Amino acid sequence: MSVLPSIRVFPDPVLRQKSIEVTHFDETLNRLIKGLSKVMESQRHGIGIAAAQIGVLKRVALVDISSRVPGAKRLILINPAILDAKRERNSREGCMSLPDYTGSLIRYDEIVIRYQDMSRRTQTYKAEGLEAICIQHEMDHMSGVLFFDRVSHLKRDLIPRAWRRQAN
Ligand SMILES: [Zn+2]
Repeated sequence: MSVLPSIRVFPDPVLRQKSIEVTHFDETLNRLIKGLSKVMESQRHGIGIAAAQIGVLKRVALVDISSRVPGAKRLILINPAILDAKRERNSREGCMSLPDYTGSLIRYDEIVIRYQDMSRRTQTYKAEGLEAICIQHEMDHMSGVLFFDRVSHLKRDLIPRAWRRQAN
């Protein structure tokens, strides 16, 4: 039996630190990925998680949009890098580490990434739409960047989740 790692919530300083490359593809990495899966699955709207969000500063993230796009497969991204990006678009985002807000910001609609899988093989992958946005969001966590850093106008574009309830 293992304890579910807890989600780090802003302003926890670990969320502002940079993650380092994974060099050991070992049992510790497997355990980290299992822990990330459990935490992501425990959140009703969880479609992605980066290791930094549970306090592990390694370049590892999971992206799984299958709850919104049936058939989408889970991506386990180790040491990801963006090779190409196209078409800016607006994105409305939330984050498990910022539970009280959503934000409106600009992302790319299509990206090509390179990453390593759990067998250390290098993979290239093209993602579009929600999946592409989620990958960019999780990669930001690896640089200590949170979505509100990309919001152009905090008062206008950062929306407290409670605001919508009050407005109804
Ligand atoms: Zn996030």
